[in-house]
Amino acid sequence: MHNNNQRAKEDKNVCIHCTENLAHLEKWLTLSPTERQLLEHPERVYTFTVPVKMDSGEVKLFNGYRVQYNNALGPTKGGIRFHHAVDLEEVKTLAFLMALKCSLVGLPFGGAKGGVEVNPRIMSDAERERLARSFIRQTHLFIGPDTDIPAPDVNTDARVMEWMMDEYSAIKGARIPSIITGKPVILGGSRGRETATSLGGVFILEKLLEKKNLKPHKLRVVVQGFGNVGMHIARILDERGFKVIAVSDSKGGVYAKGGLAIPELVEDKKAGKPLAESVGAKLISNEELLTLECDILIPSALSQQITVDNADKIRAGIILEMANAPVTPDADEILARAGRIVIPDILANAGGVIVSYFEWVQNRSGNQWTEERVADELKTKITHAFERVWETSDTEHFDLRTASYVRAIERILAAERGRGRLV
Ligand code: NAD
Repeated sequence: MHNNNQRAKEDKNVCIHCTENLAHLEKWLTLSPTERQLLEHPERVYTFTVPVKMDSGEVKLFNGYRVQYNNALGPTKGGIRFHHAVDLEEVKTLAFLMALKCSLVGLPFGGAKGGVEVNPRIMSDAERERLARSFIRQTHLFIGPDTDIPAPDVNTDARVMEWMMDEYSAIKGARIPSIITGKPVILGGSRGRETATSLGGVFILEKLLEKKNLKPHKLRVVVQGFGNVGMHIARILDERGFKVIAVSDSKGGVYAKGGLAIPELVEDKKAGKPLAESVGAKLISNEELLTLECDILIPSALSQQITVDNADKIRAGIILEMANAPVTPDADEILARAGRIVIPDILANAGGVIVSYFEWVQNRSGNQWTEERVADELKTKITHAFERVWETSDTEHFDLRTASYVRAIERILAAERGRGRLV
């Protein structure tokens, strides 16, 4: 850690967490000094000020960031978050993970991420709209359908994408839907985007079960988080015959040994009722939920939920990482020693960015796909990525996370060699 801090002082552009991630891979992946340097450094880092006129008439200035990590495989792609804790180091790390995710699932995209250090929850709708439009005015010179394509992230939804697309189009004097993904369907969004991340995770899980000769009907599932990703994955797995025995949100969880009535919980959720107020199930805390006796644990809420403090208490045989980075690197080692199979985030939750890619393709061709076509093409792409990771894991005796990282990095380096930055 000391070395990394020292390096950051000497080299302001290095991504410290990416350096740490790469250090974990050292045992399995030999990188030349130039390859390592190329992966440790984002290609471009933009910091800027985002001025917003508040309803009071006062103008406030917020810090904005956009990191374009690597564009060897294509234009960079990644979300924009509005959050009070956004900082540049975090944005760099998330951009690196996006570069790996896009590479792993074979998309013609590099990785990016952006953010504004702001609390949008205390802003009015009109202020949030001015914030979204101001972000585009500050970034339109270096984003674009062929350079860098933003998307939703924490606290930015389809409505925000709509404002951003409109502002970009107004500046350029032409309607350009392919500048951004995650738009409402009426404005060129893709059908199936809302459920894409969860459906992609289900396709991956089913492939793994096939390899392990396991049948869904016998398997008990626990899901942490009941938002976009958690709710849809619980619903889809329930429909496919899995037994979902516990789910939770930020206020706590519900548990029923014989299986929860998921359709009713979904209805309650849509009606705005917290899970803890649903009837017919036992209430449990989020800590208890993670350590329940089950076959499949699906963290779908926050990062760093499984740490050295609880990793040895996890009883699930399979952990499907739908949230980004829910397992810390030290906890990962404990899980591996205990023989748990962890399906890493860059593979498990890649369904979202795959369908974002489909949205971009549809916008550029002026076409709109059916929901069935989106689901079919998602299945083809994500299961193909899983098969390649499985093969690497099997032949090299890597765990699935290592195999995913190695495959993703190799593809980026091959593209760098192709364009002449590496020999
Ligand atoms: P969301 O805001 O819709 O839902 C988050 C859920 O987590 C909510 O139910 C919330 O109540 C719950 N939660 C918050 N704090 C909690 C806590 N301490 N314990 C238990 N639950 C808690 O967000 P989302 O879009 O469903 O994303 C969830 C995760 O998946 C995030 O890590 C996100 O980065 C990742 N992810 C999402 C997508 C996507 O397409 N939405 C794609 C890739 C990765």
